[in-house]
Amino acid sequence: NPTAIAVRHASMYYGDVLAVDDVTMDIPEHSVTALIGPSGCGKSTFLRSLNRMHEVIAGARVSGDIRIGGADIYARGIDPVLVRRKVGMVFQKANPFPTMSIADNVLTGVRLNSRRLTRAQAEEIVETSLRSANLWDEVKDRLNRPGSALSGGQQQRLCIARAVAVKPEVLLMDEPCSALDPVSTLAIEELMAELAEDYTIVIVTHNMQQARRVSQQTAFFSISGPSQPGRLIEYGPTS
Ligand code: ADP
Ligand code: ADP
Repeated sequence: NPTAIAVRHASMYYGDVLAVDDVTMDIPEHSVTALIGPSGCGKSTFLRSLNRMHEVIAGARVSGDIRIGGADIYARGIDPVLVRRKVGMVFQKANPFPTMSIADNVLTGVRLNSRRLTRAQAEEIVETSLRSANLWDEVKDRLNRPGSALSGGQQQRLCIARAVAVKPEVLLMDEPCSALDPVSTLAIEELMAELAEDYTIVIVTHNMQQARRVSQQTAFFSISGPSQPGRLIEYGPTS
């Protein structure tokens, strides 16, 4: 597949501390790439550099070159908000707005785009997004119930529906299953395979079995000792 994300000599810092050193890799589109490695080796930090979330921490910065769909996401004048719209993110702990309805949760990102939606447009986006997240059949009769009414696995799929509702090019997932039971985990893993037909997916996992089940490429990160930076040590087809 063509390259979706081209990373060249990218490093991530927290203040003066180098957290991830000199990553170069090409992530192909419409596939799942797993980032794997021991705790603290910089997987999450690297992932968050791909949608300019890393820099929301005071003093945190990225050097080097990261291009998504050919566009330098760190070029001068690029609005990080637009990058985050193009590159959606799902977190370890599902974080729907608990008191907001299921439908409105799906629409939060879309509404931030300041476009006025008709009721019909909103319904269409809610249904399409929930179908993409394999959640529609379970919630179609209770779209006005709060997000908190759903199980943990359903909440994670709701967060995936919210992410895809804005039609991103890339989906980043930071340990999306590590707070879930095995049945919910399987549902998310199956969903990832389906989403990879339409999206480029990058997932952080500490579970090699999961990387084998879901990914076509695996990037192994490592760290040589305390207060050493994380490094990409191997990258290639998942074996
Ligand atoms: P992983 O996801 O592989 O467990 P992280 O990306 O979370 O690794 O962390 C990489 C390194 O960056 C670790 O040394 C961690 O302590 C450090 N780090 C993470 N978040 C922060 C932060 N907010 N401020 C300073 N250092 C951080
Ligand atoms: P109303 O009919 O006055 O919009 P509802 O109680 O039906 O009130 O809906 C409450 C909120 O949930 C509204 O903001 C509405 O946009 C949203 N909503 C409800 N159902 C749907 C749906 N099927 N598709 C999209 N949005 C919905």
